[in-house]
Amino acid sequence: MSKKVHNFSAGPAILPAEVIKEAAQGALDFNNIGMSILEISHRSKDFIDVMEEARSLVKELMGFGSEYQVLFLGGGASMQFAMVPANLLVTGGTAAYVNTGVWASKAIKEAKGIGNINVIASSEDKKFSYVPKGYTIPTDANYLHITSNNTIYGTQQHQFDKSPIPVVCDMSSDIFSRRMDFSKFDLIYAGAQKNMGAAGATMVVVKESILGKTGRKMFSMLDYQVHIKGESMYNTPPVFSIYVSLLTLKWLKKNGGLAWIEKINDEKAKLMYDEIDRNSLFTGTCAKEDRSKMNACFLLKKPELEETFNKMWKDAGVSGIKGHRDVGGYRASMYNALTIDSVKALVDTMKEFEKKYADSKVTA
Ligand SMILES: *Cc1c(COP(=O)(O)O)cnc(C)c1O
Repeated sequence: MSKKVHNFSAGPAILPAEVIKEAAQGALDFNNIGMSILEISHRSKDFIDVMEEARSLVKELMGFGSEYQVLFLGGGASMQFAMVPANLLVTGGTAAYVNTGVWASKAIKEAKGIGNINVIASSEDKKFSYVPKGYTIPTDANYLHITSNNTIYGTQQHQFDKSPIPVVCDMSSDIFSRRMDFSKFDLIYAGAQKNMGAAGATMVVVKESILGKTGRKMFSMLDYQVHIKGESMYNTPPVFSIYVSLLTLKWLKKNGGLAWIEKINDEKAKLMYDEIDRNSLFTGTCAKEDRSKMNACFLLKKPELEETFNKMWKDAGVSGIKGHRDVGGYRASMYNALTIDSVKALVDTMKEFEKKYADSKVTA
């Protein structure tokens, strides 16, 4: 790569440079077999090894044994919005959902097409700027659905209570970013393209014992049990995305796993939020205790300086901090592969911007 870019993209997002390099090599000549990973059978030994290693690394990082199954499916995390209720919502039963933003809302909308949905808590009253807490989980619901990190609004759940019913969690944008007691969850899903790999695959980790209770006839492709039986190869899986995920998981493990990445992510988030709070030209958009360590959202207090700030960060090599169209302002996504140096580059730009323009006449 010719020019130093600080890639704050919200997704698809930054991957470790060495992972990109190895993936590119695999696209040229995989394992020195004289063929690209893009042109071999998914049932070849070479690819089955990729799939098996990826599945077992996921289990290892989560500390799971044989009661959990790991799948890599197509369809994106959005497909899980339908697959979850299709597989877990018993005919005539109810599922409990917590609404914490755009993705949770989409999950709710989809589930309502399958059965009764009870939205037990929501932060919509304050534009999803916090994570609801202290709600009671109904014991008669089939499952509880939560979103651990709200990519668009920049909030993150930092504490997870024990639940009397199975917990399903959309971890698309903070998967493997921190240590967790994963045993509190019965089903975890995450699109690969934010913290794990290339777009295409979605990881699903499910406790097998919660499946097979709906009494509903299922389409094979939507049935977790079919995919489990097929060892995630019921149909042709998104091979390249899974390969990139494997390389990222290996990178994570080699460097020290979740404890290692958590420390780095904590440092990056502290650096970023300290500057947002200190700088007189910016303000954060979320409740401090619920701020996301992955996606920091902030606003410029003098909108008339927007063009000026935009030019400054672009000149500094910063990329991808324009906020989501629903929120406006800025969003710095600091996924696992983003280095502290990149956060420093953005923070330094914000400091310089303040120095130059904080006292400029407001003309708006
Ligand atoms: C990006 C994202 C999704 C949607 O992912 P797709 O793979 O595009 O379907 C769902 N949930 C969360 C939390 C996300 O960040």
